[in-house]
Parts: sequence; C-alpha cells; structure tokens
Amino acid sequence: STKARTNKTAAGFALGLEGAEMGKVKTRFPPEPSGYLHIGHAKAALLNQYFARMYQGEMGVRFDDTNPTKETAEFEDTILEDLKLLGVEVSTSSVTHTSDYFPQLVELCEKAIKEGKAYADDTEQMRMRQERFDGVASVHRDDDPASSLARFEDMKAGTEEGSRWCIRAKISVDDNNKAMRDPVIYRVNLLPHHRTGTTYKAYPTYDFACPIVDSLEGVTHALRTNEYRDRNPQYQWMITALGLREVRIWDFSRLNFIYTLLSKRKLHWFVNEKLVRGWDDPRFPTVRGIRRRGMTVEALRQFMLAQGPSQAIVSLEWDTIWAMNKKIIDPIAPRFWAVEEADLVPASIINFPGEAAEVKVLPRHKKNAEVGEKRSIYWKHILLEQVDAHAVSEGEETTLMDWGNAIVKRKVEEGGKVTSVELELHLEGDVKKTKLKTTWLSASPDNTLAPPAGIDADLALVPTTLLDFDYLITKKKMEEGDDVKDFVTPQTEFRVPALADGNVRTLNKGDIIQFERKGYYIYDGEGADGRREFIHIPDGRAAGIAS
Ligand code: ATP
Ligand code: MG
Ligand code: MG
Repeated sequence: STKARTNKTAAGFALGLEGAEMGKVKTRFPPEPSGYLHIGHAKAALLNQYFARMYQGEMGVRFDDTNPTKETAEFEDTILEDLKLLGVEVSTSSVTHTSDYFPQLVELCEKAIKEGKAYADDTEQMRMRQERFDGVASVHRDDDPASSLARFEDMKAGTEEGSRWCIRAKISVDDNNKAMRDPVIYRVNLLPHHRTGTTYKAYPTYDFACPIVDSLEGVTHALRTNEYRDRNPQYQWMITALGLREVRIWDFSRLNFIYTLLSKRKLHWFVNEKLVRGWDDPRFPTVRGIRRRGMTVEALRQFMLAQGPSQAIVSLEWDTIWAMNKKIIDPIAPRFWAVEEADLVPASIINFPGEAAEVKVLPRHKKNAEVGEKRSIYWKHILLEQVDAHAVSEGEETTLMDWGNAIVKRKVEEGGKVTSVELELHLEGDVKKTKLKTTWLSASPDNTLAPPAGIDADLALVPTTLLDFDYLITKKKMEEGDDVKDFVTPQTEFRVPALADGNVRTLNKGDIIQFERKGYYIYDGEGADGRREFIHIPDGRAAGIAS
C-alpha cells in the first residue's frame, strides 16, 4: 500500500498527499512563538493534523524560533493551549524548536561555505535589495571560502565587524525567480534568545532553517501556504545542496476573511491600543476569540477541509463558516428564553385558573430529548417584550409559545409604548392560525425578579446582558500601505440588557444555547456588574453584524 490514499472532504475534494505511505507520514506545524494563533494558523494546524491522521502518521509542532527580537517562551505556552482549543493535542515529545538544531545549522552553513555554495557578504541592505532586483552579483560572490569562513566566525562571535556581515546561499544571480537570487541564510542578532540565551549571536533565516530542520526531523510532507511558492525551488535547493533527505511540499492558500486582520503584528496593535479587551476578545480572529464567540472545533475542521487544496487567494466571507457552525450547534443547543428589559410589558392572564403558579417540565430541545429538561413557570402575571406587545391589537388571537393561544382583551398604550396587556387564554385555539408567536416569562406583579410564591428561588428571572459585535475595521480588504488607524470601527460592542429564564443558572461558561426567537448565544460568565453575559453567535445570516 504505497499509493496515496485519498479521502473526500465535505466539499468533495480528494485530499491526499503525493508519495504518502501508510504509517510513514510526518507533518509539522511550525508557528513562530510571537503571538497567539489566529484562524489562519488554525487552517494550517488542522490540515497538518488531518493528513497525519489520514496516513496514520504523526504530526509535530516545531517552534520556529529563529528571531529573538519577537519571540518569547510565554507565547509557546499559549500556542500549545490554543492548539488544544482546536482539538490538536500534541505530546510533549512531538514539540521541538528550530533552536534545538542551531549546532547542526551552524555546521551546515560552514559546509556550504567550504563547498563554495555560500559566501559572506557585507553589501549594505538597500543596495543588496537593488542588486538582487537587477540581477547583479555581489562583489563578494566569488570571495574564497576561507575568507567567508573567517567572516562567519566574526558573525558567530557577534563582533562589531561580524555584525556588518551576513551569509548568502550561492544559488543564482539572475534567475527569473527572484527567490533564487542568493538569499540570505544567516545574520547577526545580538539580542538574547529566549532559549539559547547569548550562546548564539548569528541566526539562520527561515529560508535556510526550515528545509534543513524539516529534513533532519523526518518530516515527509511540509505543508506551506502558497505565498511561499516562489520559494519552493529554493527550499529544494537547500536540501539538495547540503545532501539531505528529500521532503515533499504540499501548498495551500493562505486564509483571509473580509473585514479581518490576520497578522500577529496588527492584532498586537489592537491589544496595545486597548481597542479590544485582550487576545481572547470575541471580536478577534484569534483561536481564543472565535472559540469564545461560539465557534466549534468541528465547524473549523469542516471549513478548513472544505477549503482543502484550493490555491485561490481570496478574502472569504465569515457567513460560510458561521453557517457551518450553526448546523453543528442547532441540534444540540438547549433552548431558553430571554426578554429585552427595556420597556417590558406586564401582561395578566385574566382567566388563569386559581392563584398558584405552576411549574412544568419541558424539553430543552424539542427535537432532541438528550439535551435534557428545563422547568418553566406558568402564572397569571407574565412579561412580554415591547415589540411583541406592540405587534398585536385588541381582539387579536395570539400564541404564547409552549402554552397556547390567548386573546388580547385590553392593551394600554402611553406615548407610543405599550404599558400593560390583558390576555384571555383560549387554549383550544389553533396555533397555526395566529400571526404572532411570542416568548414570555412569568414574573412577580411587583416588578421584582422573585418567582411567584411557592416556586423555587433558583427559577427566579436572571439579569443578563446580550452582547453582539461588529467588525473591528471598516474596510473589507486592507491593502498594502493602508494604515489600520484610519479604518478602526468606532463602535464594535453592543450590549442589550435582558431577563432570562431561571434555567440559565445551570449553565457553565462556554455553554452554547439558543434564546428562542433571538439566536444562538454562548454563556461568557458574569460581567463586572454581576449580570450574566451572553455573546451572540453569528449564524451566517447576518454576517455577525449587530442589527
Ligand atoms: P502572522 O503574519 O499572523 O504572524 P505567520 O505566517 O508569520 O503569520 P507563523 O507563526 O510563522 O505566522 O505561522 C505558522 C504556520 O501557520 C505557517 O505554516 C504559516 O504558513 C501558517 N499560516 C499563517 N497565517 C496563515 C493564514 N492566514 N492562512 C493559512 N495558514 C497560515
Ligand atoms: Mg512567520
Ligand atoms: Mg507574518
């Protein structure tokens, strides 16, 4: 069974890796520990996991820690936590660092220099860029290996002289593919490294380290985003020039979403400017942010696999992925009720039998008994939302959901607002014939949250805040040169006070529910004001924009 086996994804793509052998595939996810993972990283991580599983192989996580300027150990921990949030569990033995290979990388650089495949260069940066652009050779290109080696020694020692130099691979001066024009493979950085401290003063570039470490680590298939496609020949050149084991590249398109920044640097900016509450802000496209907003791992996985091998670099709509998410949460999200607090309308049921309130046990989900049960209070004093009370007229028959029909006997209005309603139950009425079906909540007549006499205190109404969010930026697709500052959406958080039924007391932070007739929400814990906060989960219909 040496042939690549393929699976069909949701979108019908045959996803497979060329030359993959069952049990022998190794993939890797190579994050730079310089920030939190975002949804683009999630695509890379989930695809790596998918292929490793498909071929019963393994997936490693390699921290690409070759730039001490940006990287910290703290970010390594958070990235591993983020992977866990994605359902990508990696054993500690599968976590490696590019820095683990610094000794071999130094040796291989020296080998390349000795064999005339690399040279030291001190051409000033701007000029080097111009020469590479024009296809002009550096004056040092033909320096003899001994003098380049001596420069490399200076670089490794981090001397002032050494700091002026870099090492370049001797590939081509004027190849049509500019990535092949003698790329830099080593440069000096005097900042201490978060793992190796001050041992090294010169660091390999990504272009040099990535193919080498992939090869040394036994990676069989390196998944890369296709903006590196121009660099694929360079990747293969490094491996061949240094006589290393071959690695296959499988490239896929970089993920972009409209109105969304997927760059650690820009996300850092939003955090620093306090435009969001942190890296797990529900407005953020970070793994933490979207999870907090109610995105499930299953939806992420389905979405990423549906993207599959697509090479198109486009800005996707958020609707698609939220719609996939909705399909996953809808069959299992328990249903509760909440009414907006502003201008609540007290309604009385004039023919309610007796004085005592009654508790009925109802399913939390009408089509899925496994979701469990809830308790609802039936009583003569109920609350209606202003919009619902507004929508019915005197004499009209309407439906109280989970109860039955009622006729609006009296409706009192003041200044355009309904202030009270009287209803007469008409339970034999046909619920299919009413125009409006309303949610309602039993309440005490004295406007307190307390439940009617004789009812469990834990069924009392719960003060909540319903939260919704807008995109952080006003521009659909940011372009090169655009300054984020000019495109910050002025208001991105919307809070609506509401009262929820007492059953929401049983929820834990992170639980996903539906407030019927309002949408899906994820319970986010108690806010600073003590009210329980529920974050609206976009369902693909309103694109996640607050109404
Ligand atoms: P950022 O600009 O956000 O820092 P990066 O590519 O520099 O992104 P890395 O930590 O180096 O971040 O990326 C780790 C892996 O995730 C790489 O394999 C990279 O190709 C992949 N990746 C990063 N961003 C995206 C994206 N938007 N879509 C798909 N894959 C991505
Ligand atoms: Mg990077
Ligand atoms: Mg980047």
